[in-house]
Amino acid sequence: MNKFALPPSEWGIVWRRTALILVASTLASWVISNLVMMSLNEGMNEVGTVLALGMPTALGGPILLFLQVRSAQLREANRRLELLASTDWLTGCLNRRAFTTRVSSSLGQIEGNGTLLVIDADHFKMVNDRFGHERGDEALQLIAGAIRDNVREGDLVGRIGGEEFGVFLEDAGPEVADLAAERIRAAVNAVFVTSEGIAQRLSVSIGGAVCAGDAGFSELFRIADRRLYEAKHAGRNRVELGSSAALAEMRVAAG
Ligand code: GH3
Ligand code: MG
Ligand code: MG
Repeated sequence: MNKFALPPSEWGIVWRRTALILVASTLASWVISNLVMMSLNEGMNEVGTVLALGMPTALGGPILLFLQVRSAQLREANRRLELLASTDWLTGCLNRRAFTTRVSSSLGQIEGNGTLLVIDADHFKMVNDRFGHERGDEALQLIAGAIRDNVREGDLVGRIGGEEFGVFLEDAGPEVADLAAERIRAAVNAVFVTSEGIAQRLSVSIGGAVCAGDAGFSELFRIADRRLYEAKHAGRNRVELGSSAALAEMRVAAG
């Protein structure tokens, strides 16, 4: 895409602001000219009126339009940079920093439940060893796609480590989170990496922590990560969200 190209919404802003400033300066020019001419006891003649009304547009119009376009291009460049700085280059998910920041800010705002899932690809070293690093990269993209396809629009998906992803499910209590995590697990488990007649089914293990009240990101992550560890030890390709007793304990701890 041309680095100077602007989206239609930005052109709308450029034209609106240019027109608004021109109307205001034309009006000001006309009022000031009238006041000056009246103070000289001469009043405005036709030439004066035409000049007072035409000069701001004729002289300032092109410069104003140019400056508005430049400032719109800067805004657009900033937007693209921000997107680039918060996106993981391989999978298109949020990167670790952006994910942590966005989840922390969500945690500060939510009133109901929220669930953090930590998702780790199983035996991924073996995928790389059998199929090569490039195929491994493609497998990570497929896993990211399966995760994104199985969460809601506003949920946050990030790549928080090499073959590790994080998902924050807003407004999701234990039941909703369990269903979402199970959907993700099953979707990844339906994906195969293939090469030269060999095929390997992918799988992920998922640990989760449901929060109610003011939980911080690090505390939630610590719990979800511990559950991920349990899921790995229980045989992988499974979801571990914790017992309802543990959730009740968390609620009490969160006050
Ligand atoms: P486990 O089931 O215990 O998680 O086993 P694992 O093999 O997935 O875990 P381990 O930590 O031993 O290995 C992680 C592997 O993930 C090794 C590393 O090469 C691979 N990996 C990490 N980041 C990337 C990446 O960006 N691309 C590719 N292709 N592989 C990656
Ligand atoms: Mg792994
Ligand atoms: Mg890992």
